[in-house]
Amino acid sequence: GELRSVNVPEAIETVLALIQHKLGTRITVERRFKGEPEICCTPALLNQVVMNVIGNAADAIPGEGRITIETRSEAGNDVIRISDTGPGVPEALRERIFEPFFTTKPVGSGTGLGLAIAYSVVQAHSGTISVETAPGGGACFVISIPRRAA
Ligand code: ADP
Ligand code: MG
Repeated sequence: GELRSVNVPEAIETVLALIQHKLGTRITVERRFKGEPEICCTPALLNQVVMNVIGNAADAIPGEGRITIETRSEAGNDVIRISDTGPGVPEALRERIFEPFFTTKPVGSGTGLGLAIAYSVVQAHSGTISVETAPGGGACFVISIPRRAA
């Protein structure tokens, strides 16, 4: 795809509008946008990454809950942290979840491709994606992308 200057909070809002039907009133979204908002990336691909991670967070939350989306600048990178109030990712699965076709969802409801796609998109932008434990025990996905193309 074509590299452009993209405003990260705006991209996140675009994705949130697209998946609002999936969040409904069940899930509250908290935004904490700080730092330099512009990064150099392929706009549709960044949207896809954010969409896949937020969609998973919504799937993981049983009943009512919260997704917190934080952006900040660290060195030359823009860091996006997406955390949820679901059960989190067990330590033993933390590398496997980024493999193509790995899913814990029932047959027919998950392709197991969302995080594999996110991983390769982030890698193509010389960035990183990893998962940690959020305060409260949920999953926290950390996406770090250089603000300028390498
Ligand atoms: P899919 O959503 O089709 O299962 P993904 O590649 O998007 O495929 O995710 C792979 C797996 O990673 C999921 O099936 C789930 O086990 C785990 N996972 C992803 N996001 C979360 C999350 N926010 N909380 C808990 N588990 C998660
Ligand atoms: Mg998914």
